Amino acid sequence: MAKILRGEPVADAILDEMKIRCGKLAEKGIIPTLVILRVGDKAADIAYERGAAKRCRMIGARVFSIVLPEDATKDEVLAQVERINKDDTIHGCLMFRPLKNRDIESAACRMLDPAKDLDCVTAASLGNVFIGRSDRYAPCTAHACVEMLNYYGYDIKGKRVTVIGASIVVGKPLSVLLVNRSGTVTMCHIDTVNTPHHARDAEILISAAGVAKLVGREYLSPGQVVLDVGINRDENGKLCGDVDYEAAAEIVDAITPVPGGIGAITSAVLMKHLVEAAERETE
Ligand code: NAD
Repeated sequence: MAKILRGEPVADAILDEMKIRCGKLAEKGIIPTLVILRVGDKAADIAYERGAAKRCRMIGARVFSIVLPEDATKDEVLAQVERINKDDTIHGCLMFRPLKNRDIESAACRMLDPAKDLDCVTAASLGNVFIGRSDRYAPCTAHACVEMLNYYGYDIKGKRVTVIGASIVVGKPLSVLLVNRSGTVTMCHIDTVNTPHHARDAEILISAAGVAKLVGREYLSPGQVVLDVGINRDENGKLCGDVDYEAAAEIVDAITPVPGGIGAITSAVLMKHLVEAAERETE
């Protein structure tokens, strides 16, 4: 049976370290401060917001939310982004996406100060991921995959890594993070011919397609480490990943569960980005 790579110990290790770093910042009179900008009342956003707020309190950071109605105008949303940019007491911002109105979303993403962009919503932040600049932040989920591999001791250098999914939120920036760590990366998307072949060939397989149980036996081979980023519902409405977990557990060396895998690390990575942003105030 495959080793189960749980997210919780990874998150705990990150949070323990952030608590110490927050303590050091507090001695200098700095309290990392996160603002969460939410437009609308999506249940998943509210749940994530609660989790992030709890983690802020755990490490000694400050957090507050700005909540706008789903039908907020472009001016109303941008006024809040401007307020966040101008407020020196705010170190970082998490802005939930997607917004119902994509025009407002892209205007808000363009306007946010990249120095406060903790989840890589701005084009400047994405560019910095490409350059490999360490003083800016990758998308938390993509970064969580790297943290997962590091924590469990899987070296990326020289490894054949296949990423299924090429979105701007997960697949593409994740592929770049892996290349920057000297992985040999194949990125698959909906038009890729023979994704199972590319998947089977990988030593590290990461799926972020958002398709329940897409990754079945024909995608898997012995010895693989499999990270499942997908958060989906199966035919019975039960939460599941992209990977057929039972099949994978029989074939591969190690696999992340859903829930309790990558998703459990994402908000801890957000805390890491927040603390790093606050530490920059001391430079
Ligand atoms: P998306 O829909 O924007 O992108 C999906 C990508 O997968 C696309 O590039 C598409 O071409 C590719 N794809 C779809 N079907 C495919 C197939 N059959 N073969 C190969 N490629 C295929 O989704 P996203 O926002 O990138 O999210 C992907 C998944 O990750 C979703 O399930 C989402 O819920 C989950 N997610 C999890 C976290 C977390 O914290 N764990 C965070 C963000 C997203």
